[in-house]
Amino acid sequence: MSNLYSRLAAGFPDPATPFAHLPDGSVVTYGDVDKRSAAFAHLLRGAGVGVGDRVAVQAEKSIDMLMLYLGALRAGAVFLPLNTAYTAGELDYFMRDAEPALFVCDPAALPAVAPLAEAAGVPRVETLGADGGGSLAALLAGRPESFDDVARDDKDLAAILYTSGTTGRSKGAMLSHDNLGSNAFTLREAWAFGGGDVLLHALPIFHTHGLFVATNTILAAGASMIFLPKFDAAEVLRRLPRATVMMGVPTFYIRLLDEAGFTRDHVAHMRLFVSGSAPLSADIHREFRERTGHAILERYGMTETNMNISNPYDGDRIAGTVGFPLPGVSIRIADPETGAELPQGEVGVVQIAGPNVFQGYWRMPDKTAAEFRDGWFVSGDLGLVDARGYVTLVGRAKDLIISGGYNVYPAEVETALDELPQVHESAVIAVPHRDLGEAPVAVIVPRDKGYADADAIRAGLADTLARYKQPRAILFVDALPKNAMGKVQKALLREEHKDLLA
Ligand code: ATP
Ligand code: MG
Repeated sequence: MSNLYSRLAAGFPDPATPFAHLPDGSVVTYGDVDKRSAAFAHLLRGAGVGVGDRVAVQAEKSIDMLMLYLGALRAGAVFLPLNTAYTAGELDYFMRDAEPALFVCDPAALPAVAPLAEAAGVPRVETLGADGGGSLAALLAGRPESFDDVARDDKDLAAILYTSGTTGRSKGAMLSHDNLGSNAFTLREAWAFGGGDVLLHALPIFHTHGLFVATNTILAAGASMIFLPKFDAAEVLRRLPRATVMMGVPTFYIRLLDEAGFTRDHVAHMRLFVSGSAPLSADIHREFRERTGHAILERYGMTETNMNISNPYDGDRIAGTVGFPLPGVSIRIADPETGAELPQGEVGVVQIAGPNVFQGYWRMPDKTAAEFRDGWFVSGDLGLVDARGYVTLVGRAKDLIISGGYNVYPAEVETALDELPQVHESAVIAVPHRDLGEAPVAVIVPRDKGYADADAIRAGLADTLARYKQPRAILFVDALPKNAMGKVQKALLREEHKDLLA
């Protein structure tokens, strides 16, 4: 069809309409977006970035990073954002794997990045500072403020986004102009975005959630955002009065509830709270509802597919479920071994098809082939569909615990634990067990620091969970290991506790 930027820009509102409200009080309008992204597109072309070339960016969150993203789309380049937490060793892998024509880093990181880039054969490195400084700013000066967007087909790549690396090494997901475009317009409709919306944006922009779900949907709606450098509960509370929608990872909601001053009054005017990227516990969903009157809308997506399944905007948003497939997205629940579709109500692996499904893993044809079955993408997440059609995820296939021949779904045990008043957060993992093969072990963050009464927790589960699902050991910790997206790194926990029941 067309270049994603052209498609979004076709619906842009009046150029004077705000797109972003920045922390310093300044406003970036839609007119500014068009001009600045054009200047970036010229800059990229001038820097030798050709159509299909990768532009890798590891930089602090800034509005210019978004303009660079849009400029890359317009120039037909492939935008490739990288988690700011990646270390030099990790960058080396990404540079060699992605072979970018240009690498953009933070000015402070240049001394470390330049030699890596040289060794990896990256032809050019420039810098972009969160404060607007860096070599790109200088290179932008005097560039034309209009640009003829390079024509692109539906399947041409717009971005490569590495997965979060929760279950293993990050894979580069190849996303096309239509993968991103179709999802942006689908979400605009599904979540009823209009030009008057103001999104509170506190997510990182190196990931699907902050970059595509948040930014593309706002651009598709001609709406605006309050653009914050990161999530800071106090700052978010200060800004919420001017927002209509917030998107967050579950941690955002947990931290807001931790703020004593967070009340119904802060959010009475809000239209919508969305959560995703990791499971939102039913407990937090309920607590949030009690405190604010808002039912958080939980949805399910992944780097490879953008958003797949969402609780309804109009209708019951059911705690602990991710809702219905989005319009245009098809799902089926299949037997993980045979791939055969399972009857309604049974737990199996979620498979996904639709215009949102990616073009494969970058330079991993075998991995790509292994993750598709008859045109369906095998998500690796286990779930079931209830009688009303709501999908509930029960954990990742890799996290499934098989104890004495019985399947134990970690999410079910975590939900039961999280409902206990003593429990703040929990993670349930498989630990090798002499007789049972594996047994569930619970790692708990108690509500009160220092609490460690395993017997009381056990008693609390006695009536809710069958014996084989009850944790064989209960550990108390101050915090769960989480990656930059707030996801619990169960592989780390499994490794740490692998000898616990030996
Ligand atoms: P990797 O694939 O590298 O191991 P990752 O799967 O965490 O990392 P992402 O693509 O960022 O990388 O995350 C997608 C995953 O996040 C989904 O497959 C799912 O397991 C989880 N997820 C997303 N939304 C939800 C949700 N609402 N509830 C439960 N899990 C979710
Ligand atoms: Mg994944």
